[in-house]
Amino acid sequence: MEKPAPKPIEDIDVREVIGIFFDIDDTFSSEGKITKEAYSALWNLKNIGKIVVPITGRPAGWCDHIARMWPVNAVVGENGAFYQMMRNGRMVKKYAAPEKEIETMRSRLFVIRDEVMRKIKGSAVSSDQAFREFDLSIDYCEDVPRLSEAEVDRIVEIFERHGATTKVSSVHVNGWFGDHTKLTTAKLFVQNELCLDIEKDNHKFVFAGDSQNDEPMFEFFEKSVGVANVMDFAKRLKFMPKYITRGKSGAGFAELAKIICG
Ligand SMILES: [Mg+2]
Repeated sequence: MEKPAPKPIEDIDVREVIGIFFDIDDTFSSEGKITKEAYSALWNLKNIGKIVVPITGRPAGWCDHIARMWPVNAVVGENGAFYQMMRNGRMVKKYAAPEKEIETMRSRLFVIRDEVMRKIKGSAVSSDQAFREFDLSIDYCEDVPRLSEAEVDRIVEIFERHGATTKVSSVHVNGWFGDHTKLTTAKLFVQNELCLDIEKDNHKFVFAGDSQNDEPMFEFFEKSVGVANVMDFAKRLKFMPKYITRGKSGAGFAELAKIICG
């Protein structure tokens, strides 16, 4: 069945929007850097009182910094393993991943890591792996020469054969044990911290993303937005975002922020 094409971003109705969830890599960042334009757009959203929450596959170590220092209300990390936020000057962290089984999960991930390293030449454990708590991240183009789509598929296959959940971001293949995703933990945040029912209040939130690990959010949110480079992943996506920006990555994020800020 033909996937419905995303509508132009100008068509989005943001009148009731109170919060913006967004992916970081290649949605907020552009070719590995956060541009002045994108970071200013984030400040603009925060300054007009919107709830801003990055939702990323990046590691716990990065998220600690983001929650403390960026103009955000919270951050969801490691593809939904946890969210964390500053409350009254103190860090609060809530786990969605099965925290008690962390050691068992790690040893199972090491088995997957060894198999990937043995079978997929040119792949590498991602350079941010040391700062992760719950997932294994395989680099397919960030610090290694880009692997082919077939090789990325083979990495996914190895994770899946071992029973891990896996998602491909624009830079890594991530795998973990547990049912959490970016979406389930975003829901948890809305319920716990905003006391809203996200099913009923779906229209009050916007989500912006660019790749396959954003897919559950693209499907769920009535106001899901892809930055223009999402089209690079169109073949891999079962669910497309409902809207699309003209600009790529950070420029697309800034375009969306401008519409929300009015
Ligand atoms: Mg991304």
